[in-house]
Amino acid sequence: MKKTIGVLAIQGAFAEHIKVLRKLDSHCIEIRKPSDLTDHSLDGLVLPGGESTVMGKLLRELALFEPLKDLIEAGLPVLGTCAGLILLAGKISEDDTIHFGTMNMVARRNAYGRQLGSFQTAAEFGACGKIPMVFIRAPDIERVGANVEILARVDHHIVAARQANMVVTSFHPELTDDLTVHQYFLNLVPQKTKTCVA
Ligand code: GLN
Repeated sequence: MKKTIGVLAIQGAFAEHIKVLRKLDSHCIEIRKPSDLTDHSLDGLVLPGGESTVMGKLLRELALFEPLKDLIEAGLPVLGTCAGLILLAGKISEDDTIHFGTMNMVARRNAYGRQLGSFQTAAEFGACGKIPMVFIRAPDIERVGANVEILARVDHHIVAARQANMVVTSFHPELTDDLTVHQYFLNLVPQKTKTCVA
């Protein structure tokens, strides 16, 4: 049975995530309004890159903030990339803003500078080997709590991590042909079991 993945589609690089998830045989739902959440039963959620300030504002204006936070807190597997990582961070460095705040880490926005912060490299991702990583005005993870597993580092920057149902990358895995990060995320999504109605 296909896994149904909601992709937040209010701003940023959501279409690219959908392409990758479809390659991995997932069924994707674009999340733009609260009824997109009530009309479908999601197995996972992707918070894409974009501009976290804009996304945070739109999430509240569109009344998506509370229902999405509830789903994440209830354990829905979630992949947050770049701005999506910032949305999940429990604290943003030198900033009082908190969005979902569900992940025990401090994110630093534009950790590589604002203008020259776009580059590509390759580094180890968990136990999956080396993968390509594209950074665009990326954040990094300044600190993680004890319950957070660090999945990748580039130089002295932490660039990917996992806490329970939440996986975050400060790079854009949807902008390369490598499927490792999305596959890793989908592996957190439990297989659907057929319910038997007697
Ligand atoms: N710099 C953006 C922010 O702070 C994130 C950039 C991205 O998602 N590519 O929200």
